[in-house]
Amino acid sequence: MQECIFCKIINKEQKADIVYEGEKIIAFKDINPSAPVHILIVPKKHIKSIIELKKEDASLIKDLIWRAKEIAKEKGLDKSGYKLVFNCGKGAGQVVDHIHLHLLGGWSNGSSKNIKV
Ligand code: 5GP
Ligand code: ZN
Repeated sequence: MQECIFCKIINKEQKADIVYEGEKIIAFKDINPSAPVHILIVPKKHIKSIIELKKEDASLIKDLIWRAKEIAKEKGLDKSGYKLVFNCGKGAGQVVDHIHLHLLGGWSNGSSKNIKV
C-alpha cells in the first residue's frame, strides 16, 4: 500500500493537474494554491525532505530548479518574477513528506509579500 500522496500522483493512482512529466520529475498544480500560479515540482524518487537528501541524489535538486525555471518561463512568470520555496521539515511547515519545490507567481504588483506556503 502506497501511503505517500505524491507517489500516488506519480503512479497515476490519484488525479492531479499535471503541467510537466519527464523521466525523473513531475510537476502539477497545487490543490490549494497560495498564488495565482502555484505549481509543485517533484522528483519521482521518494525522498522525504531536503533533510534526508543524500549526496548521491543532490543533482535532483538542480534538476527541480531548472524545471521550475523552464515552467516559469512557459507561464510568462520570468517577466513578473516568482518565488521558489522548499519547506524542509515539519518545523518549517512541510506537510507532505516527499521533496517538492513550490513555484509561486502571477501576482499583480505588490501582493506577493504576505504569501504563506
Ligand atoms: P508543504 O507544506 O509540504 O511544503 O506543501 C505541500 C503542498 O501540497 C501544499 O501546498 C498542498 O496544498 C499541496 N497538496 C497536498 N495534497 C495535495 C494533493 O493531493 N494534490 C495536489 N495537487 N496538491 C496537494
Ligand atoms: Zn512519495
